[in-house]
Amino acid sequence: MKKIAIIGAGLTGLTTAFYLRKNNIDITLFESTQHIGGVIQTKEKDQFIWETGPSTGVLGKPEAMELFEDLEALDILETAPSLAGKRYIWKGKGLHPLPSGPISGLLTPLFSWKDKFGLLFEPFRPKAENPDENLSSFVRRRLGESVLQYAVDPFVSGVYAGSPDTIIPRYALPKLYNLEATYGSFLRGTYHKMKEPKTPRDLKATKKTFSAKGGLSRLIERLVAVIGEERIKTKCKDLVVMNEEKGFSVSSSAFEAEHFDEVIFTGSAKGILKTFPFLQNKGLEAISQIRYTAVAEVAVGFEKWEGFPLDGFGALIPSKEKRRILGILFMSSLFQNRAPKGGAMLSVFVGGERHPEYVSLSDDELKALVKEELIPILKIPNFNPAIFEISRHQEAIPQYDLLTPDRINAFKAAEENFPGLHLGGNGIGGIGMADRIKQGKELFLSIIS
Ligand SMILES: Cc1cc2nc3c(=O)[nH]c(=O)nc-3n(C[C@H](O)[C@H](O)[C@H](O)COP(=O)(O)OP(=O)(O)OC[C@H]3O[C@@H](n4cnc5c(N)ncnc54)[C@H](O)[C@@H]3O)c2cc1C
Repeated sequence: MKKIAIIGAGLTGLTTAFYLRKNNIDITLFESTQHIGGVIQTKEKDQFIWETGPSTGVLGKPEAMELFEDLEALDILETAPSLAGKRYIWKGKGLHPLPSGPISGLLTPLFSWKDKFGLLFEPFRPKAENPDENLSSFVRRRLGESVLQYAVDPFVSGVYAGSPDTIIPRYALPKLYNLEATYGSFLRGTYHKMKEPKTPRDLKATKKTFSAKGGLSRLIERLVAVIGEERIKTKCKDLVVMNEEKGFSVSSSAFEAEHFDEVIFTGSAKGILKTFPFLQNKGLEAISQIRYTAVAEVAVGFEKWEGFPLDGFGALIPSKEKRRILGILFMSSLFQNRAPKGGAMLSVFVGGERHPEYVSLSDDELKALVKEELIPILKIPNFNPAIFEISRHQEAIPQYDLLTPDRINAFKAAEENFPGLHLGGNGIGGIGMADRIKQGKELFLSIIS
């Protein structure tokens, strides 16, 4: 029987490990920290529940729904109510809902009249000549400057903590890119996509916002229960993988070398060349040149909420508005039991490509910054949170920028040159939780095929 080593006990590695164990394949999962779940971690205190890493996923790929089904964990799947479709954008002195249809699109103060009417001509605008055009230029060309500033820029801050000036749609937003590449227009492409017949499997990708009841750590616990805690080795610092005549050896300062037939890596791309010294000096440096943005996530819980009605997904702040936070998620409006009745739980994001320096502020400075921004944005009369907790991520979100094609080619070259080596992680294949689950399943399929 094959012995498989999986490196990294985040959502990707745990998904791969789960499917391999379900097929009775012998695995060992190596994790450098003592925490299982990677960036996913739920905390609880005094009737408040909050996330210190990812907060909301999107059931945008069938694999995400299938994971809950295959894990027999549908009892913990929680999808957000329809109000999650309402997203606020800060402009001037207030929050405005992002338009969701033609009438609200016409009436919104977020976009200029030029761009509103310009949308009628979108299907007739020419395609890009440069496939690696950045997102700013892509959106400006097709939809106009105000849509870039008040819809796309805040969206990119909210998802990537990045900038549309550096993100390349072909790699970061392939569905959007393909609308233009295949159909020549967003509007025409969206219309064709809506008309395309859907298989029952396609319909599992409902695009609903999801979490797990009680927080995402509950999903991690269910994965670990099937994988078996005894198969997960934590605190494996300085892991080194060597290639052998047949297979690989895995060793660390904490344990003797162990032999495996195949190795799967799901950690940060930055660490690949160190973990696999045999990949060094092979022209694969693009792997470790990946850029991550830094983010601080601040959980703010109120026992009694008296501010702006939290009737939506959250609020995003465009860079043009020059505020010091990136956005706020209304967590207690999306999922149950996140705050006591009548209270509220918010997740506030700070830093990103715009202001990485804020992530390194002292706790007091960061809390003061969040307080000064939240009070006017959410019109909070008495700022006296019961929960005020900071989680810092110096390497939070990988940026799918102009370095991406070289990185993808380097991943492929490494795998081709060393059969049995499988490289994953969020440096390739998308950053969202559904992307991670999809990749985790693909890694499993690459082993059994
Ligand atoms: C603050 C924050 C907020 C986010 N919000 C959202 C969100 O709301 N929705 C969403 O869909 N996505 C969100 N994301 C992105 C998403 O959470 C991640 O892309 C995803 O969870 C990453 O899972 P992973 O398993 O690929 O990586 P990770 O969770 O990073 O796990 C990788 C694991 O590998 C370990 N590791 C790395 N290198 C080694 C090594 N050499 N040896 C041993 N172990 C190693 C690490 O310690 C880690 O535990 C967010 C990310 C962050 C940081």
